[in-house]
Amino acid sequence: MQKLLRHLRTSIGQRMAEVISLAACAPLLVLFGLISWQRSVDESGRMQSELGARSEAAVSGLQSRLAAARDVSAVLVAGASGRDDRVLRANVIVSPAFSSVTVVPADHNGTVARTLMRSGAGEDVLRNVDTAALVTAQFDSDTSIFVVRRIGPAAEARLAIFELDRHWLLGSDPDQAPTFGLVLVAGAGALLTPPGFPRDAVLPTGVSAQFDPAAFETSAERFGWQAGGREWLGHSALLQLPSGLVAPQSLTVLTMQANTPGALLTARGVLITLAAVLSLLLAVGAAVIYLTGLYVAPLAALQTALDRLGRHQQARLEPRRADEISDAVDAYNRAATRIEGEFRSLETLAEVDRMLLAADDVEAIVDGLLERLLRTTGAASSCIVLLDPNTRSYGRNYFLTAQRAAAEMSRVPIDAELLPMVENSPQGLTIARCEEPRHSVIAPLREAGSEYFWMWPVNVEGDLRALLAVGFQDAPSVVPDTARQVEEFAGRLAAALSKQARDAVLYRQAHYDGMTGLPNRLLLADRLEQEVAAVAGGSARSALLFVDLDHFKKINDSLGHAAGDQVLAIAAQRLRGCVKDGDTVARIGGDEFTIILRQIADPQAAQVVAERIVHSLHKPVSIGGRDYRIGASIGVTMLPDDATSAEDAMRNADLAMYRAKDSGRGRAVFFEPRMRDLKITATTSGLHRALERREFALYYQPQFASSNGAIVAVEALLRWQASRGRPRDPKEFVPAAEQSGLIIDIGAWVLETACEQYAEWRAQEIAPARLAVNISAKQLDSPQFFGLTESILQRFSIEPSCVEFELTESVLAASAAGDALERLAKLGIRIALDDFGTGYSAMNYLRQHPIAVVKIDRSFVEDLPADGASATLTDTIITMAHALGKEVVAEGVETAEQLEFLRQHGCDFIQGHLLSRPLPARKISTLLAQRPSVQESLPYTATG
Ligand code: C2E
Ligand code: MG
Ligand code: MG
Repeated sequence: MQKLLRHLRTSIGQRMAEVISLAACAPLLVLFGLISWQRSVDESGRMQSELGARSEAAVSGLQSRLAAARDVSAVLVAGASGRDDRVLRANVIVSPAFSSVTVVPADHNGTVARTLMRSGAGEDVLRNVDTAALVTAQFDSDTSIFVVRRIGPAAEARLAIFELDRHWLLGSDPDQAPTFGLVLVAGAGALLTPPGFPRDAVLPTGVSAQFDPAAFETSAERFGWQAGGREWLGHSALLQLPSGLVAPQSLTVLTMQANTPGALLTARGVLITLAAVLSLLLAVGAAVIYLTGLYVAPLAALQTALDRLGRHQQARLEPRRADEISDAVDAYNRAATRIEGEFRSLETLAEVDRMLLAADDVEAIVDGLLERLLRTTGAASSCIVLLDPNTRSYGRNYFLTAQRAAAEMSRVPIDAELLPMVENSPQGLTIARCEEPRHSVIAPLREAGSEYFWMWPVNVEGDLRALLAVGFQDAPSVVPDTARQVEEFAGRLAAALSKQARDAVLYRQAHYDGMTGLPNRLLLADRLEQEVAAVAGGSARSALLFVDLDHFKKINDSLGHAAGDQVLAIAAQRLRGCVKDGDTVARIGGDEFTIILRQIADPQAAQVVAERIVHSLHKPVSIGGRDYRIGASIGVTMLPDDATSAEDAMRNADLAMYRAKDSGRGRAVFFEPRMRDLKITATTSGLHRALERREFALYYQPQFASSNGAIVAVEALLRWQASRGRPRDPKEFVPAAEQSGLIIDIGAWVLETACEQYAEWRAQEIAPARLAVNISAKQLDSPQFFGLTESILQRFSIEPSCVEFELTESVLAASAAGDALERLAKLGIRIALDDFGTGYSAMNYLRQHPIAVVKIDRSFVEDLPADGASATLTDTIITMAHALGKEVVAEGVETAEQLEFLRQHGCDFIQGHLLSRPLPARKISTLLAQRPSVQESLPYTATG
């Protein structure tokens, strides 16, 4: 019962109970309705016929009682003697027919007598003693009926008025419910009912008016009405009066209460109905119990099982005996087994994926896979063989047994015939017997006790790269699903192996220099950090060497980049050959190499290696059949003696290397702390790379003729935008370049670039008369300078007379400069004395040297014309220079007053921000194109 209730509480049980009840009740209700209807039809027929029969009986009874009343009244009247009516009354009392008698004179004015006379029957009664009249009279609301006869002789006629007992006449028991009632209508409106007859409740209202016997045409009629909340039936019949009784036309009506539908429900009917309903309920209940037992319970179980399955929980259903549900249960169980298998396999694969992501080397991946391989297949042992990519005839075999915690590795030879067989069996290859040497791969598994084997290939991008095998002690129990899962493992391993290979390539690309194969700056930084940490505080020492090739740029420029690359590769090889295995040789850019020498006993040991390198790199390099010599300058710093951070170590080695360059190249110099104090060094180290990195540019500042404002010359001014940081000021880096000797290379670049630009202006026919280039003392000192100048001028077809070299007074102080100046002047180049007045200002120089132009320094011009001393000095310089046949240029002219002063005092040329700032070549081109030729006279206008 509880089970039933539980089932009924489920929605399926409720729905089932509802449907079954409805299906059972509907026909029952229809049947019930039909039966009721049939019964009511029958009942009405029965009632009609009963009414007819009763009416007939009642009428004949009434007729016979009226006849009896006629006769009894005749006897009583006959027995009445004289005028004494007492006997008569006494006799009436004993007669059941009459309730009273009254004797009145014939002309009596009483109600009955009057009615009798009015009806016309009075005459008959008075004339004939045998005739009696039936008279009705209304008293209050009640109607009484009388038999009237003459009493005594006709001469003194009196009337005997007998009142008929209505109870005797019409019957009816007042105590009984008025189911039937006989009503006598003696003339219009004279309605007689049995005493106690509930007229209002039974008869239709206004019945007296309706029941006019004259209106009834047929002798019998049936009719029905509603009164007192009930339904009534009536049967009327015209009354045949017995002879000797005169009365108006009379009518009898028998009334009968019709059976209501309620009344139809007899006790038996109720019982039957109850029994029917009960049996129906029982039947419905039984059906529900049966059906819910059959379907609801298994459906509920199926639902629960599906829920559990959805939550990845084991959910198998008990098999049932064969019925419709058992098929569903079987189908469900099959699906559940499959889905559970898929879940498990997905979980395992997800676990494998997580493991692969976490593992950082092949060993970790192989270990993780072997362990899961055993678990998934239930095998006794498993192995993964990674084939040697070069030969494929050997491989590293990692194997694991169920008893062991960690995999073992051995190198195994691989049978050439085995590989294609496995390769062509992606679903796995079974090996029933391990034969040596064909199956050397699975030999370790056999040694661990396995007899049957299953093997899968691992293909990476179409290449067999590994084998995967499991061993069983008994015939393999690997079901297809498990085999498929191992196939997935093989796929995962393939992906992991290819990722490893890719990672290795990426790592190489990120950490090694593509051209020389040496570690790059990134890896060097890493290793240096490690080295600094390793030697920190300990007794161990190491050395960091900064190697810069000498003259590499020349080879690159003259022989091309391919030759340059060749030189770098050779240098890299030689460097590697000079150091031990554990040492690091890195290329950190251009022709710069860095070396970490590990476990160096003392600086002398480092010195030996450094010298070996200098020696090795000094050997000729053969390119295109010709021998070239490169060399190397090396800076050496000791760790941890000189530096405790990688950054410091790098800077030290860099500084030492510049010292080596400065002191003549082709040598190794050890870092000394005082090198840090040399102000120029920081700039120098960057300058060294600036040329290679093309960080230099030239700006040009025009010089204007003071006579007419025409541009007569442009001065090339060097600009340096280092790749990092702000643009550098030439006043800061030119002295640094001079000190380090770099100015020789840089100056050559300036001369070449400026001449190239001048040639271009020439080609565009906008070139000014002269090109001025600043030359430093170091350049002038350089033995190659003259030759270089000549060759550049030739290359660009520029006459020497169009070129002006600007030199400062300090240059002239060096005695060696004289000869160089002579040679240049002879060639035709104009020499200008720059910044005149700031140095020794010895007028002597003007006389001794072939100087064509004097440039008055900005510091004098600055204070013009207000400062008297400056004005005098400027005036003196101009006068003197002119006296010696030199031209004068004023530098740094910023105001119109300065310009005016200089013009008035005969200064030939004007240079300064007032007229034009130094500008890039492109803007100078525009300026030159706009300016009229030298001959035209123009007012001065500012240009930029
Ligand atoms: P410098 O040869 O005397 O060049 C004139 C300097 O005065 C330039 O400075 C120029 O920009 C600046 N100047 C020109 N007009 C005015 C002005 O109206 N007001 C002010 N305040 N300055 C003006 P810059 O370019 O900074 O060069 C500084 C120095 O660097 C040069 O002095 C020169 O000695 C040296 N230098 C520049 N380029 C080279 C080069 O290619 N080789 C060598 N050896 N030295 C160079
Ligand atoms: Mg200059
Ligand atoms: Mg100057």
